[in-house]
Amino acid sequence: MPIKRAQGSYLIDEQDNEYLDLVSSWWVNIHGHAQPQIARAIYQQCLTLEHVIFARFTHEPAVQLCENLRTLLPDQLRRFFFSDNGSTSVEVALKMAYQYWKNVGKEKKLFLSFVGGYHGDTVGCMSVGQQSHFHDPFKGLCFDVLFVPYADTWPGDTSVVEKEEQAIKVMSKHLAECGDRIAALIVEPLLQGAAGMRMCRPQFIAAVVQLAREHQILVIFDEVAVGFGRTGTNFAHEQVGVVPDFLCLSKGITGGFLPLAITVTTERVYGAFLGDSYDKTFLHGHSYTANPVGCAAAIASLELLRSQRTQQSIRDIRDVHNEQIFDLQKEFSYVKHARTVGTVAAFELELDNLQLFADKCRSKGIIIRPLGKTVYMMPPYCVTRNELERAYTVIRTCIEEML
Ligand SMILES: *Cc1c(COP(=O)(O)O)cnc(C)c1O
Repeated sequence: MPIKRAQGSYLIDEQDNEYLDLVSSWWVNIHGHAQPQIARAIYQQCLTLEHVIFARFTHEPAVQLCENLRTLLPDQLRRFFFSDNGSTSVEVALKMAYQYWKNVGKEKKLFLSFVGGYHGDTVGCMSVGQQSHFHDPFKGLCFDVLFVPYADTWPGDTSVVEKEEQAIKVMSKHLAECGDRIAALIVEPLLQGAAGMRMCRPQFIAAVVQLAREHQILVIFDEVAVGFGRTGTNFAHEQVGVVPDFLCLSKGITGGFLPLAITVTTERVYGAFLGDSYDKTFLHGHSYTANPVGCAAAIASLELLRSQRTQQSIRDIRDVHNEQIFDLQKEFSYVKHARTVGTVAAFELELDNLQLFADKCRSKGIIIRPLGKTVYMMPPYCVTRNELERAYTVIRTCIEEML
């Protein structure tokens, strides 16, 4: 589908038809398309310093971005490592976790991950995401990972406690068998995105983290998809009430303008890499590491995120989702497991041919992209109440047309 331009929450095609972008262009766009403040920040930065090698050199946009992020993060998360995209932010966390243990004199090669988890497309990310089935052709390339069920749930789910206990049981078994060989646990807190917007309770993540910590296992929170307001708080870990050892950020970081990623870690991890020689150094870098233009976009995006207006809008989106989606579920027996977290709403649509459903929605001016049987809405924060309510009306109409 050729798109000529985009504005706010809308994509515009060559015939000037407008489509509400309910996938936020693969979850990256948080403040709307062609957002002028971010666009201006990028332009100004291009005229000042477009790029410089980020080894033995540094620059103000990188420093500023870290300082601004620090004000939103727990005190313990104070060390920042730049890379280019969500996959590299995870790859960096995995490599750092492995080398952390090496640097303190231990060899730990195993990782613990969750069934359905998706963490990106590089080999390390594929290894910890094997159970997402996105990478089946590459299974032979992947390293060993232990998997735990993700206790996904929805309002009205009567078996949530049972699912959580079962998951904890599986995890405990792994820990009993090889806990001392596990370098880190990686998880998407509150929301497994690619697996089909599977949501879990904060206490489940908290329990899993506690168990990991009892076995000296490092904790990686992959907030590539959920960071920057998606779950209603700036970051999902705020609702879980734990501070991970690594926090992976990308997608929304530049407001959807440029690829950039950061892996944030603690002083304890950072300290294990210090030394007089290169032996303990984390030797990982990309040509465009900490690209100043990307950093400038991220600074502007963060400023927008912190504004009263955006914070109000995030609450409004949550409210509209909660007002609408459960009614939708009551109206149609084909709509199941309706659920929301912050600005994300999802349900299972038990009909064949969801592509046809998506096409119908598109012909009525909204873009959705079902994941299997899961229909979800994840709009940019600039969407208005009216626009989002209209989207629900379109979805109703399109479901009726499918019956
Ligand atoms: C999208 C995503 C990634 C990978 O990010 P890319 O920028 O596409 O490489 C990793 N983890 C999660 C949770 C994601 O949603």
